[in-house]
Amino acid sequence: MRDVIIIGSGCAGNTAAIYAARANLKPLVVAGHEPGGQLSLTTLVENFPGFPEGVDGPALVENIKKQAEHFGAEYVHGTVVEANLGERPFSLKIDHEWHQTRTLIIASGASARWLNLPNEQKLIGHGVSSCATCDGFFYRGKKIMVIGGGDSAMEEANFLTRFGEEVALVHRRDAFRCSKIMLERARNNPKIKFITDTVVEDVYDVSQNIVTGVKLRNVKTGETWERDVDGFFVAIGHIPNTAPFVGQIELDGDGYIVSKGGARTSVTGVFHAGDVQDRNYRQAVTAAGMGCMAALEAERFLEAEGR
Ligand code: NAP
Repeated sequence: MRDVIIIGSGCAGNTAAIYAARANLKPLVVAGHEPGGQLSLTTLVENFPGFPEGVDGPALVENIKKQAEHFGAEYVHGTVVEANLGERPFSLKIDHEWHQTRTLIIASGASARWLNLPNEQKLIGHGVSSCATCDGFFYRGKKIMVIGGGDSAMEEANFLTRFGEEVALVHRRDAFRCSKIMLERARNNPKIKFITDTVVEDVYDVSQNIVTGVKLRNVKTGETWERDVDGFFVAIGHIPNTAPFVGQIELDGDGYIVSKGGARTSVTGVFHAGDVQDRNYRQAVTAAGMGCMAALEAERFLEAEGR
């Protein structure tokens, strides 16, 4: 029986682990299917306070984890596949094994959204990717395409110009939701070509088991055409990792946890932190802050119960 289990090992989960460990709660952190969370998929983070020169994302999140381990947090590889939050103690099935805990911090983040093209999933790892920092290296001197109009798409497109001979940025509108500075950076990069008002109809070629091209459609004119592509990077946002909690805690229409103030959820003793609840700020520093809040709330909750 644990006092606290923390689901997720990104910025939010690891920060919650530091606070919970320092409160002698001996937290168990379930690393999840994307250990390190979104930071582990980035390169330079320029907006985390305290690093005037910026800091490498994967190194930052690894350091937060080490800090938590230093105070006694325990990490387990695995994913929560089932949960019973209907009665306390709460029960969680981590891979094949059930665990019990008095409080729970859900910091399971959000995973990449896909376009759901007929051949997209079949070509993941063979030219289709959601992670420029993981896979960009494979497309040195090649033709790269990035899909999306948010900060992720701009960041990925800029990053991928280090490798590709050209980067086509395809967006379904001609207005962009990314920040102005990121858009300017992309527009000023001579290797990036913008293709707006355009959607991808499919990606080829499954018969060769490698990406060779895409079919595009202009949403205003209806015109369709094909374009040669070697690396196809989807950067269209994320989906919250709340599948095991459907029907157990209150989620919004998109599956994000609904906050009941502070780090509280609709279930007493279950707290949230990071992107699994936050569809607004989604920053490393806000995730870390929420991890801290969740751990403090869990600590106070247990204390009020006399533990
Ligand atoms: P986002 O802001 O939600 O943008 C998603 C983009 O994908 C939008 O342009 C959207 O188009 C497009 N899109 C969504 N579904 C699509 C579909 N089915 N087909 C085609 N296009 C689709 O997601 P994000 O870029 O991942 O950013 C998430 C958050 O992280 C934001 O708050 C962002 O500021 C932050 N972030 C910050 C940095 C940084 O500061 N360094 C880097 C990355 C991310 P529409 O615009 O038409 O809806």
